[in-house]
Amino acid sequence: MSEDLVGRLGERLRTIAAIGADPEGGNTRLAYTEPERAAHDQFIAWAEADGARCETDRAGNTVAVYREGEPYFLLGSHLDTVVRGGAYDGVAGVLGGMEAARLTGDRVSAGVRVVVFAGEEGARFGRPNLGSAAAAGLLDEQSAERLRDAHGTGLAAAAAELGFEPVAMEPWIGEEILCFFELHIEQGRQLEAGSARIGLVDAIAGSVRLRFDLVGRADHSGATPMPMRSDALAAASELILAAEEVGRGYRSTVATVGRIEVHPNNVTTVPGEVKLWMDIRDIDADLQRQAAATVFERARALAKARDVGISGEVVSDQAPVVLEAWPRMIAHRECAKRGLTYQILPSGAGHDAAIVARRAPSTMFFIPCVDGLSHSPREQASVEDIAAAVELMGAVMVEAQKSVAGAVG
Ligand SMILES: [Zn+2]
Repeated sequence: MSEDLVGRLGERLRTIAAIGADPEGGNTRLAYTEPERAAHDQFIAWAEADGARCETDRAGNTVAVYREGEPYFLLGSHLDTVVRGGAYDGVAGVLGGMEAARLTGDRVSAGVRVVVFAGEEGARFGRPNLGSAAAAGLLDEQSAERLRDAHGTGLAAAAAELGFEPVAMEPWIGEEILCFFELHIEQGRQLEAGSARIGLVDAIAGSVRLRFDLVGRADHSGATPMPMRSDALAAASELILAAEEVGRGYRSTVATVGRIEVHPNNVTTVPGEVKLWMDIRDIDADLQRQAAATVFERARALAKARDVGISGEVVSDQAPVVLEAWPRMIAHRECAKRGLTYQILPSGAGHDAAIVARRAPSTMFFIPCVDGLSHSPREQASVEDIAAAVELMGAVMVEAQKSVAGAVG
């Protein structure tokens, strides 16, 4: 493994981690904010120094053309984060993509581009993969219009402030892409548990996000006897437990309520209103749909039993995706060749690769992260593992090129 490669990756990880460094720890580069753009600018500076031509589309995705021509290999990930996120989520895939593009150089005759997708994390607007969805033609105006951040700012307004217009963009992800490669930290503990250095991802779980509004009555906590109450938070608690039960009921389903808002949120007032956000994921599309339907059913029954108004809506709905087999087959031959321990596994987290996969062959390589920790300042991964994945990615590109030589001409 080249010392240069390891050194440069380490240094660049630190440079990106200094952008949007949060005083409380970690990085805060939320979707469609100045810190996210500053990270893209740093990417452009590095790519241009490599001789790549850079373009930013109307959704704020930045593409560096390392090798002109179509069809082309696309590599990359994202540089936005959640609030106080880690230094590796997304960053590893962007830096790794640049390195793989440098590494392969003239060994591939197809085009090579590196992309930084905008707004991958759903942390700000409740919906993930905004940039890649726009580039794939999967961001419709109607659903985009409903997206608001915690301050009530809409996606369109936030993007316009930075000079972007995601929904008006002409999609560009299509059949010119030979394969999209996304390198990413696992964000789980399977690789660590199995002592594998590389994860070859075969499927990416989908995610349905639901929002429920529960309306009861805000009464005085001392003057209102129990039978006369309409407690929105007590009802919400039952709904949260119902989601947990639904998640446990299916083999591969996970269901989480990670955010609630209580009004008036006062010690001496029966909670009158609660908003809650639920995330249901599965690698099986039918089970995912069924789990969401069951939660809605339980919410209806609960509203009746507790005399609380409950309305629910689907904020976003992403189906699970099975990734193309051929890049993974090449990868596992290459892993065996270089004695790299690997494991084939599904991704429980969503990624831009799941979006690109609807339009073009896509593959994901995972590297382990310490204790599975992610979306946290304590997120930690090994630079040597990123470098090993870069070399693997490069080798797979060269091999893939041979098998698609006819298409490349
Ligand atoms: Zn990520």
